[in-house]
Amino acid sequence: EAKTSGRNAVRFFDPAMQAVLVVRMMLESNLRIALALNQFQLYYQVQVNADGQLIGAEALLRWIHPDRGFISPAEFIPLAEETGLIVPIGLWVMDTACAQLKLWEAQADTRHLSLAVNVSAKQFKQADFVDTISHIVHKHQIDASRLKIELTESTILDNVDATTEKMHQLKKLGIAFSMDDFGTGYSSLAYLQRLPLNQLKIDQSFVRDINLDENDATIVRAIIALGINLGLNVIAEGVETAAQRSFLIENHCYSFQGYLFSKPIPAEAFQALIAMHKTLPIVSASQDLVT
Ligand code: C2E
Ligand code: MG
Ligand code: MG
Ligand code: MG
Repeated sequence: EAKTSGRNAVRFFDPAMQAVLVVRMMLESNLRIALALNQFQLYYQVQVNADGQLIGAEALLRWIHPDRGFISPAEFIPLAEETGLIVPIGLWVMDTACAQLKLWEAQADTRHLSLAVNVSAKQFKQADFVDTISHIVHKHQIDASRLKIELTESTILDNVDATTEKMHQLKKLGIAFSMDDFGTGYSSLAYLQRLPLNQLKIDQSFVRDINLDENDATIVRAIIALGINLGLNVIAEGVETAAQRSFLIENHCYSFQGYLFSKPIPAEAFQALIAMHKTLPIVSASQDLVT
């Protein structure tokens, strides 16, 4: 029988709670195995400009479990964060992304492309993060100015001074920074001005109803204006419709990522896109994209 003391008592032998813990422990050990057995893959989602030209990609982690199939990063990244496994996993992501970038450099002109890599708070906070990234960049001999690190507001604001210092060190290597999921956190203007950022990435939750919800439209207009005033590139994520794209263009946001252009795709498929020099989305001549 669980020990209780007062209204908010912890129930130690709650079977439901125990089941949750067991599932978490299994997921955690599976995550370790996944890393050892190469069950992770990187997919790449294109980023395009207003002319539909490819300007880069975001690397997105995929876990293909032998029994469970595809497991969403939204499910396992938080656990990887809590357990610290995000550090070796994040290392694998950066190493794999840089190796890929090197391959693309060798096979096509990639000077106009950037590759964005998500870095979690725990990973960024590692004392040796700058050295580790520097080592990977040199190991693969990539042009570091093709590399962009995506950080969230909470990662940056957690310890602004230490983070800013690290960002400056990485910037010296040529690496760029994008603030991911922008608008969902609490960045103040004062901080934004001080950070060595290159890009604001408008969170997809604001983009979704941009054409329907006046509040979202207002927020997005404000983010774009903020970015322009700070001299930052502004990119919108989760762009699914031509109408959303049109709204963004009318309001001076000219970089996009979303299903309208492409879902995240395997490395070989992205390689083929680089080689094609096609503009996205691929529509027939009769279709009017900008409505
Ligand atoms: P994120 O960095 O904000 O990535 C964007 C997410 O939106 C991706 O989900 C992408 O597949 C999805 N998405 C892209 N276009 C659209 C669209 O048009 N509509 C909708 N509904 N969704 C779209 P995904 O791949 O499931 O990743 C979820 C989150 O997991 C990422 O959000 C990121 O926070 C995290 N994540 C993914 N890969 C990594 C990684 O390598 N390292 C770390 N630390 N986190 C990662
Ligand atoms: Mg991201
Ligand atoms: Mg994002
Ligand atoms: Mg997001």
